[in-house]
Amino acid sequence: MRSLTLKKNEDRRIRAGHLWVFSNEVDTKKTPLTDFAPGEEATLLDVRGKALGSLCVNPASLICGRLHSRRPDTPLDGVLIRERLATALSARERYFAGPWYRLCHGEGDYLPGLVIDRYGDHLTLQLGTAAMEARKPLLVSALEELVRPASLFFDNDIPARGLEGLSRQPESSGPVPELLEVPENGCRFTVPAALGQKTGWFYDQRANRREFARYARGADVLDIFSYAGGFGVTAAANGAKSVTFLDASAPALALCRRNMAANAPDVAAETIEGDAFQRLSELAAAGRRFSLVSLDPPAFIKRRKDAAQGLAAYRKINLLAASLLAPGGVLASSSCSHHLDGAELGRAIAHAAAKLGRPARILYTGAQGPDHPVHVAMPETAYLKCRLVRFD
Ligand code: SAH
Repeated sequence: MRSLTLKKNEDRRIRAGHLWVFSNEVDTKKTPLTDFAPGEEATLLDVRGKALGSLCVNPASLICGRLHSRRPDTPLDGVLIRERLATALSARERYFAGPWYRLCHGEGDYLPGLVIDRYGDHLTLQLGTAAMEARKPLLVSALEELVRPASLFFDNDIPARGLEGLSRQPESSGPVPELLEVPENGCRFTVPAALGQKTGWFYDQRANRREFARYARGADVLDIFSYAGGFGVTAAANGAKSVTFLDASAPALALCRRNMAANAPDVAAETIEGDAFQRLSELAAAGRRFSLVSLDPPAFIKRRKDAAQGLAAYRKINLLAASLLAPGGVLASSSCSHHLDGAELGRAIAHAAAKLGRPARILYTGAQGPDHPVHVAMPETAYLKCRLVRFD
C-alpha cells in the first residue's frame, strides 16, 4: 500500500480521532495526490513518517482522504466492511424493536461515505465516495449475509457523488417495491421507495415526532415542510383536532392525505401547496392561528459560505411560524443544517419571541436519533436540532 504524508501539525485532528484529511493538509511535494486513483487505499503518515492509520484517497475531492482504520496497511476489504456493518446492526437491534431504521450512518458508524436506510426487507443505499462505489460488490455480499434484503435501491442522486465524480443515475437490484410501509411511534406511514423527487423516510426525527405529539391533545396543528406528514399525522393519531399540511410538493401532500386516512381518518385534514414563506404570510394575513406547529425546513445552509443568507432565512421562517401560534401554542423548530448550530437556532427562536413581544420557553431540546450516531471526534456528523418552544 502506498503512503500519504501530512504536513507538519496537520496530524493533530487525526490523532484526536477525526477521520478526514483535507487536500491542503497533505505534503503534496512528497506524496502528490495526483499519483492516486480515486478510492485507492493508502497508509497515512505524519511529518516524521509515523503511521496514523489507513485511508481511502480521492485526489479530486476537498476531503481527499477518509480513514477506515487506525492500523497501517489495512485494506477496506470485505472482512472490515462486514465487521463494521455487524457492529452498526447490533447497535440498532439493541435499541429498536423492528427493522426500520438507518442501518449505517457513514462516519458515525466508522464507514465513511456509506449511508443505508432499512425498511424491513428493503434497503436504500447512498454511496457517497469513490471508495464505497468501488466496493459495491463487497457491501452487497456483507448485507446479504447480515440482513438478507429482498431488494436494494442505490439512491445515487446526491451532491456528494457529483463532488467525487460518480454517476448520479439510480440503480437497483431485486424487486424494489413502489411503496414502503414504515411503522413509527404507533403509526404506519406509506412512502415511495424509489420514485419522485423525495424518496423514503426521515428516520432522524423519530424521537422528536414523539415528543411533538405529547402536545397534540385537542390541538389545531400546522405541519410546515410536511413531506409525508411525519409530525402532523403523529399528532393526529394522538388526539389533535385538526391538521394542516404545507409543502411545495404535490406528491408529498398526497402522501399526507393517504397517511392521515390510514392513521387518523376522523381528524380534519387540510393540505396547502406552495412556497412556505409565501403561504405562511397568507395564513397570517387571513388571521389563522394554530396551537401546535412543526417547522422542519430543508437545509438552508448547505455550505459554510451560505451561512449568512441561510441564517436570515431561518430567522424569517421562525418568525413567520411563531406569528401563527395561538396563545400558549407550541412550536417545534428543527434545523438539519450542520452549519447552523443549536445556539444559533435558539437565537433565531429568541429573535421571533422578541419581535412578537411574547414570552417563550424551551420545553425540549432534541437531536438526530440513535440510528444517526454522532462520531465522538467529528462535530460534522451532528446536524439535526429540534426545539419545542411554548409561546405565551
Ligand atoms: N417534516 C418532514 C420532512 C421535511 S423534508 C418529516 O417529518 O418527514 C423537507 C420538505 O420541504 C420536502 O417535502 C420539500 O418538498 C419541502 N420544501 C422544500 N422547499 C420548500 C418551500 N420553499 N416551501 C414549501 N416546502 C418546501
